[in-house]
Amino acid sequence: MKLCRGIGVSPGVSVAKAFVYRKKAADVEQTVSENAEKEKEKLQRAYDELIGRVTELSENGGDSAEIFDAHKMILEDPSLIEDIFGRIDSGKNAAWAADEAMSELAEFFAALDDEYMRARAADMEDLRAQLLSILTGACDSALEKLPGKVILVAEDLLPSDTMVMDTRNVAGIVCKNGSATSHVSIIAKNLSIPAIVACAEMPDCVENGMTVAINGASGEVFASPDEETAIKMAEEEEKFLHRRELLKKYKDIESVTSDGVSLAVEANIGGPQDIEAALNAGAKRVGLFRTEFLYMASPDRLPDEETQFEAYSKVAKAFEGPVIVRTLDIGGDKQLKSLPIEREGNPFLGYRAIRICLHRKDIFLTQIRAILRAGVFGKLKIMLPMITTVEELREAKTVIEQAREELSAEGKAFDTDMPVGIMVETPAAVMMADELAKESAFFSIGTNDLMQYTMCADRGNASIAYLYSVYRPPVLRMINNAISAAKKNGIPCGMCGEAASDRLIIPFLVGCGLDEFSVNIGAVPATKEKLCSVSAERSRALSKRLLGLETMEAVLSELRSF
Ligand code: PEP
Ligand code: MG
Repeated sequence: MKLCRGIGVSPGVSVAKAFVYRKKAADVEQTVSENAEKEKEKLQRAYDELIGRVTELSENGGDSAEIFDAHKMILEDPSLIEDIFGRIDSGKNAAWAADEAMSELAEFFAALDDEYMRARAADMEDLRAQLLSILTGACDSALEKLPGKVILVAEDLLPSDTMVMDTRNVAGIVCKNGSATSHVSIIAKNLSIPAIVACAEMPDCVENGMTVAINGASGEVFASPDEETAIKMAEEEEKFLHRRELLKKYKDIESVTSDGVSLAVEANIGGPQDIEAALNAGAKRVGLFRTEFLYMASPDRLPDEETQFEAYSKVAKAFEGPVIVRTLDIGGDKQLKSLPIEREGNPFLGYRAIRICLHRKDIFLTQIRAILRAGVFGKLKIMLPMITTVEELREAKTVIEQAREELSAEGKAFDTDMPVGIMVETPAAVMMADELAKESAFFSIGTNDLMQYTMCADRGNASIAYLYSVYRPPVLRMINNAISAAKKNGIPCGMCGEAASDRLIIPFLVGCGLDEFSVNIGAVPATKEKLCSVSAERSRALSKRLLGLETMEAVLSELRSF
């Protein structure tokens, strides 16, 4: 038995035979071409075929359609093919020129600081591999016909791989590369398949057909487990599968506490690509649409009003209940190539989110116009991130008013009455919550940031992670103050940070009077289940007790015994 460790990105336990997937690399001959025109024609044919394939995948792609929409957008951006043509003009053959241009772009993405942007390198890598396989005739269809239930082990799984793979037979996934925001992680989470990425020893330390046991929460991979481990893991797998089946019933169940308080469970989404998975998980509303992903998917230029309008309209049409669209939240750990920000000493305390939007009103106005117009197709709400002052809220509302006036003057249809709310994710906003609530249509507490700003503990710094916790008394008080101010002013209060799906803290949130729980898609059923099991009255008493405690230890002990 050999134990390897990676990052668990989709929880669950699985024991099965390994299917080691090794992608055949296309052979690129680096020969000088005498006839550039012929090479360009060859490239154009392959390129058109690839666009055709990607279009088909985006039309039939279900959960992953938007990934392929993004691929199509990359291919249709004229600068890419022009770059390849330029290299052909300098004497390279079609495959060599395409390989070089697309590898350079993939390397560019891979070198960026932002995790999401780094994951976009995989998109470019995927398109490069596909284009080269068309140009050189290499092909690989191993994933389409898996030999029964297997744990898929690979260096990397690209979107086009996950698209064709026979998911009914995939009991687990282990990759050498990847991160929590790689496509393979997102797809595994959406399908509730246990998955582990960043497992350095893969695929070399397992062989095809070898028994493998994985734990998608802890990131453990047991290659050829001993009998005792295999039996223990198989029992856990059974429990996991049983629970996954049980949770399916929550798809159509409303979340109502045991004493009859109705609470909303909403999905956090990154764009239209998540619609199907969110609906399948039983989310009828969206509490956080992180629009920055739309901007990140368009590396060369900011998405224009029409592109944004289309994306927001798709989401508006898809959900019965309201969809909260968060305006551009860039900066901090999220960078855009199309909007470079100067290097900062403290990016999380720097030029980010609403601060950028109020400085670059042209960008903000374009987004607001697109959201207001898309509001005609459903119930959209605008949410402003990183608010620290009342002035910011007022200034943002002036821009929103300007957008309304422009659209009116142009005779364009738009939602004239769209609610505008804020994220409460800074201590400054909590301190001014009463005043902010008077001018906001709703609050949504962003615990991911509120925790770091309250505890002065960077959300990505492992060495001080013990401070970055929702169970810290100051964080609990911040949350309660924000909810109380919302209640006092008669506006709804939601939470869209990860804490909203934390089973231990949920009773405290219910007790404080939180109305909406917006959680990642995979957590929707379990959050509903938890809410249905708690009593609002007992939770109120619990919250009161917790707010009087001094230490995290005491908080945890009270929560564990609840
Ligand atoms: C938050 O800060 O809690 C939040 C939801 O926003 P993000 O994680 O995108 O910063
Ligand atoms: Mg935030």
